[in-house]
Amino acid sequence: MGRPGARGHRYRTARKAVLAHSTTCWICLHDGADQVDHVQPRSLNPDIDDADTTNLMSVHGVNGCPTCGLKCNQSRGNGTVTRPIRSRDW
Ligand SMILES: [Zn+2]
Ligand SMILES: [Zn+2]
Repeated sequence: MGRPGARGHRYRTARKAVLAHSTTCWICLHDGADQVDHVQPRSLNPDIDDADTTNLMSVHGVNGCPTCGLKCNQSRGNGTVTRPIRSRDW
């Protein structure tokens, strides 16, 4: 196995490529995504390469979506895909 840092570098390179290709968030479908998310969670599929761009999609990170305000990456969590509810009548 390579050095621990090599993996992170590959991931960052893959993330950059995904965001260069599209910044449309795969969860809320708005533009402005600044993070990437694993479509198949690695917690469920440990064999998946975290730098596999076919498994990475643009997603809104900690800054949230400028359109709907969701922090899509966090709202999804770890597990099955659940689309966030767009408006809640609290
Ligand atoms: Zn989003
Ligand atoms: Zn949005």
